[in-house]
Amino acid sequence: MPYSPQVGDPISSLDTPSMIVDLELMEANITKLFTHLRKLQPKIDIRPHLKTTKSAILAKRLNDAGAKGGCVAKLSEAEVMCDLGFTDLLITCEIVGKRKVERLVELHRMYRSVRIVVDSEVGASKIDDALEKSGINDPIPTLIDLDVGLHRTGVQAGEPALKLARHVAGLKHLRLIGVQGYEGHLQHVHGYEERKVSCLESMKILTETAEALRKDGHQIDIVTTGGTGTAEFCVTVPGITEVQPGSFLFMDTDYRNAIGTQFSNSLTILSTIISKQGPKAVTFDAGLKSLTTDSGLAECKTVGYVHANLGDEHGSLSWTDAPDLDVGDRIEMVPSHIDPTINLHDVYYAHRQGVIKEIWPVDTRGKVQ
Ligand code: PLP
Ligand code: MN
Repeated sequence: MPYSPQVGDPISSLDTPSMIVDLELMEANITKLFTHLRKLQPKIDIRPHLKTTKSAILAKRLNDAGAKGGCVAKLSEAEVMCDLGFTDLLITCEIVGKRKVERLVELHRMYRSVRIVVDSEVGASKIDDALEKSGINDPIPTLIDLDVGLHRTGVQAGEPALKLARHVAGLKHLRLIGVQGYEGHLQHVHGYEERKVSCLESMKILTETAEALRKDGHQIDIVTTGGTGTAEFCVTVPGITEVQPGSFLFMDTDYRNAIGTQFSNSLTILSTIISKQGPKAVTFDAGLKSLTTDSGLAECKTVGYVHANLGDEHGSLSWTDAPDLDVGDRIEMVPSHIDPTINLHDVYYAHRQGVIKEIWPVDTRGKVQ
């Protein structure tokens, strides 16, 4: 009989490793984020970053909860989301290269609803040239990507930002609508006050730049920023119109260690103990292909076990003072970095009290272009 888990099955019937979501915890995370941010700033637009969930079903669920569209990191994610009917998107990475620009033009031709960011005159001009050749008359909504301290992408504040905005404003096929400034370097700063103070410094750069562009004659309606670790600070700053948190839905151990437990770890990787390597040491069936290690090792949901990676397919747990584990036992591992972990799996099994209620594909898995 082919293996095909169904809604209504218990999670204990799943083969492993499997990515499972506790629906009650996930729903509580959504409610907490929306309630908290809206209480601080009722008018804020929440445009969740879908680089985390990579799922059109979850994108729609977030919109039902009050989100406005979504963000994706890459053009190929936007292509998939649009084809699945989720078209109100901001692509938060620069689109550079002939093939990508051609694909962007096609996406714009089909949907006319995707926003882009630019941080260079050459990048903006290449997109403008391609749109000119395409014969499409609708300009593409464009945001200036500003470096607010992350030093990853983004034009520098001050004269460089003004110069780029003037350049974009002069292009026929790009319509300047706003500024993006993502403070990714601050998301995991430990300590509420430390994170807040640094975040407000980045927000000052962002809102002052938006104001300078307005004074220069540009219509800047959207000022977008923020992630799970900073959104609550960003929304208190006058001039910020939109935030982009993603990880709050599921969390990970890295985020929990930095910002605490206001959001729960709602996603785990269900695994099976496949070998006993000593009286207090076992091997389980999830290695580097199921759990990422860039932000440290995943943790066993049940405390008291020490995790070590044993390679592509295996991990080990050892203990001194925790219940014994044996061959065939099941464990749940809490990822250390949620976004790349989800990208390793085909589907989510979402359960309530251990019964599968929904099965969601990871639609944009592997969409890195
Ligand atoms: N916005 C941008 C541009 C990002 O790159 C990210 C994540 O890397 C986010 C928002 C979402 O951040 P988080 O998943 O930490 O909430
Ligand atoms: Mn991440």
